[in-house]
Amino acid sequence: MNRIGTGWDIHKLAEGRDLILGGVRIDSSKGCVGHSDGDALIHAVIDSLLGAAGLDDIGTLFPDNDPAYKDIDSTVLLMKAVSLVRSKGFSIVNVDTTVILQSPKLGPYKKAIRERMSELLGIPFDCFDVKAKTAEHMLGELGTADAVVCQAACLLN
Ligand code: MG
Repeated sequence: MNRIGTGWDIHKLAEGRDLILGGVRIDSSKGCVGHSDGDALIHAVIDSLLGAAGLDDIGTLFPDNDPAYKDIDSTVLLMKAVSLVRSKGFSIVNVDTTVILQSPKLGPYKKAIRERMSELLGIPFDCFDVKAKTAEHMLGELGTADAVVCQAACLLN
């Protein structure tokens, strides 16, 4: 049976933090603030997978007040979520995502993100997509490059 899921995440951006999206380090003066490494794209993907499988959400499975997840590499959380989804008998068909980031431009990193994420998810390259959008300098912190928003949708069967 096919199941769809959606996910959404937002992180503040600040000087002195690494900007990691989809498991790929982006060259930037500001990075994601978070309890984990702040990879908002992976967090959105995790929520889409958990939602599709009826497995609650990322904050319940990996609480942000749990010291075990302090500064954790979000790819580790993704792999845990993928194995939970698979243990319920689902396989991942495709995942589609959007990143809203005013700067830096994500275009040069899209291929690397798709390669990394499709590999982590165990799906073909063309079954993971990422669209890069800006906020057109609107929407408060998003438009001033002080935050990043990521959206994800997935299909399981
Ligand atoms: Mg997050």
